[in-house]
Amino acid sequence: MPPSDTPTNARPQGGGAGAGGGPLIVFDQVVKRFGDLTVLDHLDFSVDPGERVTLIGPSGSGKTTILRLLMTLEKVTEGVIRVGGEPFSHMPRGGSGGLVPAGESYLRERRKRIGMVFQQFNLFPNMTVRQNVIEAPVHVLGIPKEEANAKAEQLLDLVGLADKVDAHPTQLSGGQQQRVAIARALAMSPEILLLDEVTSALDPELVAGVLDVLREVAESTDITMLCVTHEMGFARDVSHRVLMFDQGQIAEEGTPDQIFGDPQEERTRSFLRSVL
Ligand code: ADP
Repeated sequence: MPPSDTPTNARPQGGGAGAGGGPLIVFDQVVKRFGDLTVLDHLDFSVDPGERVTLIGPSGSGKTTILRLLMTLEKVTEGVIRVGGEPFSHMPRGGSGGLVPAGESYLRERRKRIGMVFQQFNLFPNMTVRQNVIEAPVHVLGIPKEEANAKAEQLLDLVGLADKVDAHPTQLSGGQQQRVAIARALAMSPEILLLDEVTSALDPELVAGVLDVLREVAESTDITMLCVTHEMGFARDVSHRVLMFDQGQIAEEGTPDQIFGDPQEERTRSFLRSVL
């Protein structure tokens, strides 16, 4: 498959969505604990606008927690997450300056910048495909229904489901449902797309179709992507950068060629042996 100097893998040149051309996403000394369990341990990393980053590593190393923190489904224990230069996990304290943990309405506003696709597709079963895709744009963003419908049709075409707009999720295969979930996430025009093991729940013959759709999304948009996956071929094709996690810390990072072709850490080599 293409090495990292192909157009698909060429790393974006910064600028755009980050404040003053800086990184779009910053984790600054982020700690996440569940009770006594430290899942993320003073984690520092950043992601540039338009960059596609894959998180790999053993089960339980904290990858999904990173996505859930960004989606504001979990709260940080210590440290701060910033998106586009503004605090995301925290909000400015009135008057005296400083930051305090973000309240629900602050988080709700920020959440609109990010779309997430889960392992389980989480479609609304009582709604058609079209209704699933236009629900949040109409009710959360207040986009006129006609405009939301036009965009939904365009996105369903992108994911190869133009003929399923009026179907219900139960009439679709798992792969088709996941493609609807991708269209639904993109319908909010997020700056950032989070993908959490989106093919893990699929029958093997349905995986390729979903990954092809995501390759198309990567090639046809400049959306910033964070992806947790065990599909190493996909990670190699689509990512600009791969972060290898172990026990809540980054054990190694590099381009796909470096990580898959010449890993430096024994932890990375042993993880790759287990999945390749
Ligand atoms: P990964 O995605 O790398 O498999 P996760 O981020 O899902 O890892 O989980 C990291 C660790 O955090 C695991 O030990 C998991 O059991 C634990 N964990 C995740 N969510 C919760 C939760 N809500 N409550 C308690 N422990 C959790």
